Amino acid sequence: HTISIIPTGESMLKSMGTVIILRNVTSYKELDFAKTKFIATVSHEFKTPIASIKMSLQLLENDQIGHLNEEQKHLVNSITDDTNRLLKITGELLHMTQAETGNIQLSVEPAIATNIVQYAIDANKMQAEQKKISIQLNAKHNLPKVLADTDKTTWVLTNLISNAIRYSYENAVINIDISVVNKWVHFAVKDTGNGIPPQYLEKLFDRYFQVPGSKKGGTGLGLAICKEFIEAQGGQILVESDYGAGSTFTVILQMAAE
Ligand code: ADP
Repeated sequence: HTISIIPTGESMLKSMGTVIILRNVTSYKELDFAKTKFIATVSHEFKTPIASIKMSLQLLENDQIGHLNEEQKHLVNSITDDTNRLLKITGELLHMTQAETGNIQLSVEPAIATNIVQYAIDANKMQAEQKKISIQLNAKHNLPKVLADTDKTTWVLTNLISNAIRYSYENAVINIDISVVNKWVHFAVKDTGNGIPPQYLEKLFDRYFQVPGSKKGGTGLGLAICKEFIEAQGGQILVESDYGAGSTFTVILQMAAE
């Protein structure tokens, strides 16, 4: 039930009392849940065909079917871009529905931090190549393990790297530093892109928020889901940005006991 208390306001001629409205929202909640489940099913069903389109495109791109001329390559690149966007959006919808139904299923185990970052870099390889962007992983050899859900943390870092590429210029370098501070493992994704105006930093992790005037496309859901996934693991996600010079997104997760 919701209770709305509507005061009649001082500006009226005389105070006339209070109106209390009681509304049963059970049916709305059921409807909302059904909608969320429907979105989960549809986005799940979309994943397999999109993944298979992507595999076929990879065969074309690597000249495995035959040599492509420049025009054909250009076309394949543009279909690949759209396919990646579709995959990103369906992935976000699927994760959002999990988060919304309180259904974030975690499998937290000691994991090798550099492996997680490497999976995320590999997932963004094509996108980076298209903009001639290089991604540098900086980590000491003797790093302790991190206590993490590998799938979800890989998803988060994949998203952060994908954004870093999206908002960087051609030929840029993206640095990913892994370090340990007081039993916490820090993953910092640093880009030298256009950065984020300071007044928007606070809202960046809100659902559906996009910096006004930023690139078209996307859903504004990616960072919100990243935050939910990291906080569900007892970690933290932070952003620092120098508007006009670049941004750093840092994921902080517990170090595994040695
Ligand atoms: P989406 O990318 O789908 O719009 P996100 O939640 O991933 O949604 O990001 C929200 C907004 O934050 C983006 O629309 C963009 O304006 C801004 N943003 C995210 N990452 C970066 C980045 N590395 N550099 C600059 N702006 C960024």
